[in-house]
Amino acid sequence: MKLAVIGAGYAGMAAAAELATAGRQVDVFEASRIAGGRARATQIEGFTVDNGQHILVGAYRETLRLMRAVGVDPERALKRTPLRFEFPGEFLMQAPRLPAPLHTAFALLLAKGLDWREKLAAIRLMRNLQADGYRIAPDRTVTEWLDGQRTPCRQRRLLWEPLCIAALNTPADRASAQVLANVLRDSLGGTRAASDMLLPQVDLSALFPGPACDFIRQRGGNVSFGTRVTALRREENAWRLDTGGPYAAVVLAVAPYHLAALLPELAPGVAHFDWEPIVTSYLTYPPSVRLPGPMLGVDAGLAQWLFDRGQLCSQHGLIAAVISARGRHLDLATADLEQSIHAEIARIVPGLPLPLRVQTITEKRATFACVPDLQRPPARTALPGLWLAGDYVAGDYPATLEGAVRSGVAAARAILAVRPN
Ligand SMILES: Cc1cc2nc3c(=O)[nH]c(=O)nc-3n(C[C@H](O)[C@H](O)[C@H](O)COP(=O)(O)OP(=O)(O)OC[C@H]3O[C@@H](n4cnc5c(N)ncnc54)[C@H](O)[C@@H]3O)c2cc1C
Repeated sequence: MKLAVIGAGYAGMAAAAELATAGRQVDVFEASRIAGGRARATQIEGFTVDNGQHILVGAYRETLRLMRAVGVDPERALKRTPLRFEFPGEFLMQAPRLPAPLHTAFALLLAKGLDWREKLAAIRLMRNLQADGYRIAPDRTVTEWLDGQRTPCRQRRLLWEPLCIAALNTPADRASAQVLANVLRDSLGGTRAASDMLLPQVDLSALFPGPACDFIRQRGGNVSFGTRVTALRREENAWRLDTGGPYAAVVLAVAPYHLAALLPELAPGVAHFDWEPIVTSYLTYPPSVRLPGPMLGVDAGLAQWLFDRGQLCSQHGLIAAVISARGRHLDLATADLEQSIHAEIARIVPGLPLPLRVQTITEKRATFACVPDLQRPPARTALPGLWLAGDYVAGDYPATLEGAVRSGVAAARAILAVRPN
């Protein structure tokens, strides 16, 4: 019997690709007209961009493995650079090409913008974490954890807090220290390659979910876009959807806020989730405008990170400004926000002309708020043959592409492990 996957985001396409690799026939149903979900290509005037600028890191091993499996070469699709955290004029930390753990120790030791006391405190913090096996029990907020480590203010502001927001999309005073520790274990605490930053050079639909759709079809499966599943029912040991069936098993790879419409009994498992937004403004300047690097931090600005899409994907003059999580920017009118971001870029790029166009995309429910001790539902549901996949499903990672992909792979492997009656 065939299998069904509902949702063609990174989790759904990871599940479908893993099932198809094992020789199973899969039907994928996607409500929208494009693959990728919260990580998808979209159009602004003159350019194909993403609904939000994303970064990946070398530790995203399952995403990289599945990209290769469906025929995408990560070395071409992603720009790999050693970890580099830069707030121009304030702070610069970059990992030298040394084997682990020296790359992290030297990145911290050679960081510009911290004094010796602060550098040694940062190294001590990483050493303590490692000695504790990256366990923080009981879980607490990142701010509480940093307080406990007596972390100097400037180091928090320039290193741990931006890292926390970038990785967990949750401000340090609300974010889970344990989940941040998981991320640090696999990145700064991992191999040098694991801490590399991987910046997409193609759009996020083309990076994995689009090629995964071709892969499914080549193996006898189907991918239907513009097809919102509205009903599922169990009949004679199989699942039937309003869009077809019977299916031996179904992977529900929709965002948590879509579960209630499909199966109301699953909604209580995610009712306690709270959401954090991500705003991405795309500012189009004349093609000669470039940033001093492909990715820069903005210290004490409204924007947090700037990406030069000319250096990343030959979209010369296009700058993406990203603001993660809730904050004072949400109180501003879009035009005022865009003006402030332009002024912040002008501080870094002398003689910056006015932008020719600005377009802002706000994803209100970009990720779940990654708070301490968040109860996340397991992949297995109480309903036979029905599995959950998505960045919110129980796992080590915050809401990320890798978290989504790992959950899809886990659901697929659980299905493959079930013996047919
Ligand atoms: C702006 C932004 C920036 C981000 N930055 C980063 C980053 O830098 N690095 C990183 O790793 N992560 C980042 N993330 C997080 C990452 O994008 C998400 O964690 C990941 O894409 C979630 O994938 P998913 O498959 O779990 O869910 P989704 O992407 O939400 O996929 C669910 C899919 O199900 C479909 N669907 C829903 N209901 C139905 C139905 N009834 N029938 C059929 N289809 C249905 C939806 O249309 C959607 O395509 C960012 C997210 C956003 C929004």
